[in-house]
Amino acid sequence: MKLLEGKTALITGASRGIGYGIALKFAEQGANVAFTYLSSVEKGEALVKELEAYGVKAKGYRSDAGDFKAAEELVNSVVLDFGQVDVLVNNAGITRDTLLMRMSEQQWDEVINANLKSVFNLTKAVTKPMLKQRKGSIINMSSVVGIKGNAGQSNYAASKAGIIGFTKSVALELGSRNIRSNAIAPGFIETEMTAALDEKVVADWRNSVPLKRGGTAADVANATVFLASDLSDYITGQVLNVCGGMLT
Ligand code: NAP
Repeated sequence: MKLLEGKTALITGASRGIGYGIALKFAEQGANVAFTYLSSVEKGEALVKELEAYGVKAKGYRSDAGDFKAAEELVNSVVLDFGQVDVLVNNAGITRDTLLMRMSEQQWDEVINANLKSVFNLTKAVTKPMLKQRKGSIINMSSVVGIKGNAGQSNYAASKAGIIGFTKSVALELGSRNIRSNAIAPGFIETEMTAALDEKVVADWRNSVPLKRGGTAADVANATVFLASDLSDYITGQVLNVCGGMLT
């Protein structure tokens, strides 16, 4: 029996990187997958076929997670298309890194909107169908940077710390309805987001990790499968660090 058989998952930002890895693992574990993308239209369309190859139902939606109304419409469409939403993975995120001295209001607002407001938008929208089903698992992609801070990422760190407070509050509010809410804090995961970094910075990062390597999208996806599955039925309000021991 596959771990996510019979479940429908909605994953934001699955055209690339960690979200893409999560979509593949979810399909491998038998979940029907609804996912979003924003600018990577071709990759989004190609992913549908890759997921269907696992014998599950899959559909991609072009939708801005930072847009409240769009999030509501998205969840309505997913419920119409799939009949249910059992798992929400709030994965979509961006960086606009720079020192506070140089950070513009726009760089602050864009990151807070795409990373934090998006989590509010989607979570609020899925609570309706999840309350009806009296079951649900919400998984929010935070970061170790949200726990420990990082120079040059005050906007990003604030968004990721905000996600943790939000995750715990939702767990307290919705636990009695059997809706769970947990966060994952990845460390240094090698994706397009990190490919933009200087090679020397990347080498130093790898070396600073106790397990001596950067994480992969699959490493984060495995933890996400666990939190989405019934194996984690008694776990809510928690932050699971997937960082190779970096934050220890
Ligand atoms: P990535 O490779 O840059 O991919 C980001 C994904 O989010 C893309 O699919 C992108 O879609 C989507 N996206 C961005 N803004 C969106 C929006 N407003 N609405 C809908 N989709 C949007 O990033 P990643 O490295 O996989 O990171 C995924 C998540 O993990 C992020 O929340 C990130 O903060 C977190 N994280 C990453 C690391 C790391 O080391 N990589 C570490 C800790 C936490 P389009 O391409 O279509 O625009």
